[in-house]
Amino acid sequence: RIGAVPESVKKNTTNAPTDNEDEETYTFEEIQKQRQSLPAYQVKDELMRVIAENQIVIVIGETGSGKTTQLTQFLVEQGYTNNSEMGHRKLVACTQPRRVAAMSVAKRVAEEMGVKLGDEVGYTIRFEDKTSPKKTIVKYMTEGILLRELLEDPNLEKYSCVIMDEAHERSLNTDVLLGLFKQLVRRRRDLKLIITSATMNADRFTQFFGNAPQFFISGRTFPVETFYSKIGCMDYVETAVKQVVTIHLANSKSDGDILVFMTGQEDIEATCELIKERLDLLENPPPLDVYPIYSTLPADVQKRIFTRQNAERRKVVVATNIAETSLTVDGIKYVVDCGLVKLKLFNPKLGMDVLQIVPISLANAQQRSGRAGRTAAGMAYRLYTEKAAGTDEMYLQPIPEIQRANLSSVMLLLKSLKVSDVLKFPFLDPPPPDLLYCSLYELWAMGAIDNKGQLTSLGAKMNLFPMEPTLAKLIILSSQQEFACSYDVITIVSMLSVPGVFFRPKERADEADAAREKFLIAESDHLTLLNVYNQWEQRAKIVQSKQNKLNEWCKRNFLQHRSLLRARDVKNQLVAIMKKNGFPVIQARSDVDIRRCICASYFHQSARLVKMGGNNRGQAEYANLRQPYLKMFLHPTSALIGGRDLSPQFVVYDELVLTKKEYIQCATAVEPQWLLQYGQVFFGVSALARKALEDKLSIKILDKSDWDEKMEQTEARDKPSQE
Ligand code: ADP
Ligand code: MG
Repeated sequence: RIGAVPESVKKNTTNAPTDNEDEETYTFEEIQKQRQSLPAYQVKDELMRVIAENQIVIVIGETGSGKTTQLTQFLVEQGYTNNSEMGHRKLVACTQPRRVAAMSVAKRVAEEMGVKLGDEVGYTIRFEDKTSPKKTIVKYMTEGILLRELLEDPNLEKYSCVIMDEAHERSLNTDVLLGLFKQLVRRRRDLKLIITSATMNADRFTQFFGNAPQFFISGRTFPVETFYSKIGCMDYVETAVKQVVTIHLANSKSDGDILVFMTGQEDIEATCELIKERLDLLENPPPLDVYPIYSTLPADVQKRIFTRQNAERRKVVVATNIAETSLTVDGIKYVVDCGLVKLKLFNPKLGMDVLQIVPISLANAQQRSGRAGRTAAGMAYRLYTEKAAGTDEMYLQPIPEIQRANLSSVMLLLKSLKVSDVLKFPFLDPPPPDLLYCSLYELWAMGAIDNKGQLTSLGAKMNLFPMEPTLAKLIILSSQQEFACSYDVITIVSMLSVPGVFFRPKERADEADAAREKFLIAESDHLTLLNVYNQWEQRAKIVQSKQNKLNEWCKRNFLQHRSLLRARDVKNQLVAIMKKNGFPVIQARSDVDIRRCICASYFHQSARLVKMGGNNRGQAEYANLRQPYLKMFLHPTSALIGGRDLSPQFVVYDELVLTKKEYIQCATAVEPQWLLQYGQVFFGVSALARKALEDKLSIKILDKSDWDEKMEQTEARDKPSQE
């Protein structure tokens, strides 16, 4: 069952279910009533007393009890944002592991406080800052943003309180923040730290912070009856759809709504479509509203699951594990749980990330089922057997991300925060040594740290860009004389940072494929993205500010207008970072320069062709250059399959995704001598072979010291003169 993606999941279908019903929202008075009925509200005074008396408090409560939306408001009422310093009021921060949650919760709290989102209440996520420097006092943000703020202000002087929300999720950044806060709370005795957690895992935090008090918000929960599958299922999408339709037809609407847990965008969309299809086959089926929810879904589409619904219609929400604890949809009575989750796992032996679908832990299973019993007794249908829910197949608790993720970003950040010995950093659960060493090695191979483990000037610069080390390095290299293509590379990086731009509705797949083909650049998926963006931008100039014309053009070309708009935002911000830090923004001389530059920062993610695919170039087999026994394939949508006569001999790639096969996502064809020239440290060419190669190919193979020199040269050039 592990890792299997069912047949019913079609690749590359994209979002946008848009039935335009009237959206009715609640009045301010109604909202205040709702607030006051929340369990958190009942214990407000007691909770505020405990917080006043202690620097660190662990707040534990069932999902939906009001931790995320109410705590910030209580702290404001209590005056924690009144102590002004030089005219600026201090802020209450609330961190979230997920960007979707940060946005949606900030919006809700602004409504509850009766203010405009972005004024008193705002949010900040990567590449999007909806706060006002003068007005904001409550700031929801992703953990990653707070980490970056620590780079600029190690004492977080702006804040009077930090709520680390959803700490039980144990995201990579939660764990790093916890370690940093352990030291920070000693430097800033006046800072309040509140850690919130669902009921699982809470004791760990208490121990970690020297027996910090726990505060329980007791919520009312109702019994949930659990049903298991008798035989397990072959295709969890199909099985889930049957279950939903059965529930819907067998029970009257007044019973309650349905929540389905899936693993990601693809199976969520497949599930939503199938549910609609099945109901359409029936004569006069009772009405059912189907809502998908996953992290890359545009905010305005997400928002709809919270709007007041028509009492006559049942709703089914098909969600990722975001609905486990971070978002609460009211009125759920039935839960359908596929028992799987999509995780990014880093394999230190292969030195690469692998996206994989794995069974959830028992704690997650319980949490998912519990969502059915919030307002009345409910039912949970588990699509796995009772035996599978035993400890043989499921872990008791999920494995914290820090023990399974690539740590190179985090290591780079810790180095910049002057944590000299990362091996001694106070981790709640230390990462396995393999993982640490592999990540440090990767940073070293990239040239971000030197032989002594110190941050190099390249490393320090990489931290200026809020992205993966490889992409940060790509941008920096592109601004150097050698490549001189930063303007184009920034566009590529922006396109890589937004949800997919190609739109491929299932019923018009052929048309969509034909439209996509027109954009393909045969050598490179990266250049293809650049091409799409440039054409879109050109079109934008032609139609000027007529958004609907541009939107029409996108529809005709099966492109996601929203993603492109977002890419433009990201691009502008990256250009601003470049200018601020004195990196030249240069238009490329040629595509080859861009490809060389891509090669120079992606060389550790490279593969060579080992078996031709015959007539079907999608079958061509590649071997990873680091681990030759690891076979991989170009993704079916890759430009490298479409446009050219032969499969390229060597490629570098952005990501490796394991679904049915190991797929290379976003690849660029490169020349083997480039790999040598720029990735010498990594491939370890002997001195003798190296001389021979240099003579034969008439190139200079670059050493680490050459790179350092190059960096220093740029630095000297970039530095504003002192006079
Ligand atoms: P917790 O953090 O304890 O899980 P929340 O503070 O997120 O609880 O949610 C409390 C209640 O607020 C939920 O039961 C839900 O009814 C309501 N709520 C939360 N977010 C929204 C939203 N975006 N729109 C409407 N209601 C919401
Ligand atoms: Mg919450």
